[in-house]
This record gives sequence, structure tokens and C-alpha cells, in this order.
Amino acid sequence: MFGTGLLKGLGVTLKHTLETFADDRNKVPDRYRDSIELGHGRRIINQPIDQEGLLTIQYPEEKRQLPERFRYIPMLIWDSEKNEDRCTACGICAKVCPPMCIWIVRDADANGKPITRPAEFYIDAAVCMSCSFCVEFCPFDAIKMNHDYELAVFDRYPQLVYDMEELTVPLEYYAALWPAQYSAEEEKRRKDEEEKKAQEEAKAKAAAAKAAAAAAAPAAPAGERKATSAEELKRKAQERAAAKAAAASGDGESAPAASDGEADAKKARMEELKRKAQERARQRKAEAGE
Ligand code: SF4
Ligand code: SF4
Repeated sequence: MFGTGLLKGLGVTLKHTLETFADDRNKVPDRYRDSIELGHGRRIINQPIDQEGLLTIQYPEEKRQLPERFRYIPMLIWDSEKNEDRCTACGICAKVCPPMCIWIVRDADANGKPITRPAEFYIDAAVCMSCSFCVEFCPFDAIKMNHDYELAVFDRYPQLVYDMEELTVPLEYYAALWPAQYSAEEEKRRKDEEEKKAQEEAKAKAAAAKAAAAAAAPAAPAGERKATSAEELKRKAQERAAAKAAAASGDGESAPAASDGEADAKKARMEELKRKAQERARQRKAEAGE
């Protein structure tokens, strides 16, 4: 029937109006349940999922509680435990940032040699599109997304180009903003460290066992003992080189007798091969009827 949809819509509006009115008459209206009071009428509202009626938030005095995965502009993490920036100025975030709004200047030591620390780090918040690519690709968990969205200023430059000081926050701030993600990262870090430690211990044990086995092995007879020291190996190599040089120069007097025998045998083998080759050539000629 004509106008049925309109009446239904008005019915929904009336229902919400009555529910909101009824909620407002409660001592603590439902929409303020579980909210965080900040004083002077300011509060963070955690909107209940079973809220009836309209939920109007009186911003800026009232704000909605943000979910953990809310993201706005990146922040740099200062590791309060190690007392250093986590960022190593590797530049990966700047490379993957789609609108290219990150600039990094790597720090250098007194001799001008680059070091793994940023001297300057800028993000143009007016260009950043909150995609979080920089966070996803950072190999050091050094950059995370901040929840702070109240960034309004009168001039874009330079206020919206954040420098390192404005971007840096302590690790505890990140832990409070992203509790679940922070715990998961810390757990992974702890496991990786334990694994690394276990591997190092196993390696050290294997090396110690090898050294103990070598020390416990009976010493070989003096005549058969292998030359292991560097000096001995070097001496042997020099002797071999001298013998070769003497054989090549044809100096029969200075060359050892064994080298003479080797040279004669080689000469005989060459002669034999030459003879065989000539014989095969003769056979091929005979077969061809030449
Ligand atoms: S924030 Fe991460 S990815 Fe970006 S330069 Fe620093 S360490 Fe590299
Ligand atoms: S959130 Fe996206 S746009 Fe913003 S700085 Fe990171 S990579 Fe660039």
C-alpha cells in the first residue's frame, strides 16, 4: 500500500526516541555504562553492544573508546629497557610507503661512517594514508600505529610534518595502546631468544666434546704422525716445490733419484702414445685406400 514504508520508518524512529528517553531517565544511562570518567564531564565511552536507543556522543568532552587495531599516524618506539631507539635507519619503511611520506637521515660516527641509528626521521602526516605498510614491513618492531587522531592545526607546514622527537614514544605507551599485539610480540621474542640460547649451548657442548675426544685419543707413533702444524705443512710444501723446480730444469745432479725415475716413465709413456697415434693414422690411410 502507498506510504507503508514511510510509516515503518517513522515507527523505527519513534521506537529509538522512546528507548533513548527511557535510558536517559535511568540513574546511570546505559550508554555511560563501563565508560572511563576523566573528570570535568569528560569521559571515554565504551559503547555497549546491547545499547538500546540512540547513542549520541558529546564530542569533544565525550569520546568513543577506540579498538586496539585502530590506526592513525605511525609512531617510533623508544625501547625503555635497552634505552635506545628501536629504529636502525634501514629505510625499508620509507621504501614501502605508498605515498612516500617518510624521510630518514642515517646517523654517522665521528669518522663519518654510517651507523644503525637515525639522525632524523620525518613523516608528513598530511600525506600519510594510515595504511600501516611501514609497520608491517619493519623488521625491528620499531614503528607502530598511534591512536592519536586529534591532529588539527592551523598550518600544514611545518606542523603536520612530524620529526623524530614528535614521533617517538616509550615502549610502555605502545604496550598500553596495543596490549594483545605487544604481548604476542614479546612472547615470540622470548621464544626466539630461548631457541637461540639452546642452539648456542648445543654448539658449545659439541665443541667441548670434540676437544675432549681429541685430547683423550692415543698419540700416534712418531714416524706416522701427521704433520698438523702450519710450519710443518709449509716446510713440506716448500720441499715439494723445490723438487718440482729441479725436475723441470733437468738438473739431474740436484734432483732426487725418484724424480729422475718419474721423468723417464713419463717420457716412455709419451713415446708409446705417439707410436700408437702414428699406427692409427697409418691404418686409417690403408682403409681409405690412399
Ligand atoms: S622504522 Fe623500521 S623499517 Fe623504518 S627505518 Fe626504522 S627499522 Fe627500518
Ligand atoms: S601508514 Fe602507510 S602512508 Fe603512513 S607512513 Fe606508514 S606506509 Fe606511509
